[in-house]
Amino acid sequence: MTLDTRSTRPGPTPAATRVPTPVRPAYKKRMRLADTLQTLCVTSVALVIALFLADGGAADFGTAADTLTSIGIVTGLVGSDLLLVMMLLAARLPPIDRAFGHDSAMALHQQLGKPALYLLLGHAVFLIGGYAAAENVNVFAETWSMFGSLPDMPLAFLGLALLMAVVVTSLVVVRRRFRYEAWHAVHLLGYLAVLVSIPHQLSVGGLLAEGTIARYYWLALYLGVAAAIVTYRFVVPIVRSLRHRLVVDRVERIAPGVASLTLTGRALNRLRADGGQFFIWRFWSHGLWWQAHPFSLSAAPTNDSLRITVRALGDASADLPSVARGTRVSFEGPYGIFTDRARTAPHLVLVAAGIGVAPIRSLLESADFAPGGATVLLRSHSVGDSYLSTEIIELCQRRGAELRILAGQRPPRGGSWLPADAAAARITLATLVPQLRYSDVYVCGPRRFTDAVVRDARSAGLPTRQIHYERFDW
Ligand SMILES: Cc1cc2nc3c(=O)[nH]c(=O)nc-3n(C[C@H](O)[C@H](O)[C@H](O)COP(=O)(O)OP(=O)(O)OC[C@H]3O[C@@H](n4cnc5c(N)ncnc54)[C@H](O)[C@@H]3O)c2cc1C
Repeated sequence: MTLDTRSTRPGPTPAATRVPTPVRPAYKKRMRLADTLQTLCVTSVALVIALFLADGGAADFGTAADTLTSIGIVTGLVGSDLLLVMMLLAARLPPIDRAFGHDSAMALHQQLGKPALYLLLGHAVFLIGGYAAAENVNVFAETWSMFGSLPDMPLAFLGLALLMAVVVTSLVVVRRRFRYEAWHAVHLLGYLAVLVSIPHQLSVGGLLAEGTIARYYWLALYLGVAAAIVTYRFVVPIVRSLRHRLVVDRVERIAPGVASLTLTGRALNRLRADGGQFFIWRFWSHGLWWQAHPFSLSAAPTNDSLRITVRALGDASADLPSVARGTRVSFEGPYGIFTDRARTAPHLVLVAAGIGVAPIRSLLESADFAPGGATVLLRSHSVGDSYLSTEIIELCQRRGAELRILAGQRPPRGGSWLPADAAAARITLATLVPQLRYSDVYVCGPRRFTDAVVRDARSAGLPTRQIHYERFDW
């Protein structure tokens, strides 16, 4: 291992970091917001069950047929409510991003996919079973008669089929076989699935009958979610892109297959972007305009410029270094809570590998710390092959952060994030950073690397709130 320690102030642990300080108010505020949103989510599920009970649902469990039908109605209501929650989680609403971060919101969105689908499949199965039992026919005859006699049912079945396609293509093993754009196109069918299922909810059964409060509530839910999606996924990004007029100003190739792109625009401080955040960018040039990709800021944002550093991993990222100066750029964002605002402890530890150095560098530049208050750990195969290392060394010297370059091959086994000889010598995050307990650790790099650093931090006893990571995959 090469353990190259460059520091302006490696010295002893600063006095301020020896005693745990109270959790920062910003963190408490974020947790309050997260609690409120979670309560709203649980309340929305409770409310749809209340709608069923208020309609006399509790009395509808007398016969086997009624019981099946009632279970079918409840599973349908709760499943549809969860679908709406999932759509909100993906709608990039500022309060959701502030409370959970884009990563966690999308992870929750993904986790809810299967339960929502199972509930809606249950809705179809129980209702068909209930109606068949009531009419004393078999389930196939009942399904066929539903298709023929209820005009909105074919659309409802189409919605269910589309939803199944969306959930199946989102299973990790299946998803990996798709290009991102292909997967995303299938995923968008989820919106169509929800849309085509609405008519049968309003026309079949009495719960959401015309003139009832339940119907107004249900419609308000759908309209609210639709308004949130249109506003935050379309209107806000379009307005911001037009207002800030971003263009490519400079492209600098910093290593084979890696380039930094500086984008200039107007009044960028109004975006209130922070070092460590990412945007979803669309470059309006030939071959690139039809796809949008997330890239993190690799420098602290200024009032007239933003910078990203891109590693070629596929067609778009390989083409980006060739975009012409003056190319228009539209964007969604800023997103994410991989920022100093999420910090809870006095000391800052930044750990990066590969292109993960991009958000780490902007975080280092913009984070609030006194000299001696931050440690940067750069992991690479050999000293000098970290991207942006010259800038990071200069920033560490200027800001008084301790820098450790951890260079060397990975151990063949064991899942350590450290070079083989460091892992063999049982060096850990806690050995490298004596004040780890009083630190917030920010990690960005390849998935296995990030997982290993997070494991190391957890086994050193660091609570979840002090561990932050950004994943570059979907
Ligand atoms: C929050 C976040 C921040 C990122 N920041 C950076 C950064 O600062 N620098 C950098 O070089 N890379 C970053 N990435 C990764 C970058 O988005 C992908 O490398 C890029 O989108 C690849 O696109 P492509 O067309 O070149 O490759 P493709 O061949 O389309 O894909 C290559 C890989 O990139 C991923 N990918 C593709 N499109 C997307 C998308 N729209 N959303 C999420 N993942 C996608 C897929 O996992 C795929 O395996 C970030 C990713 C995320 C999710």
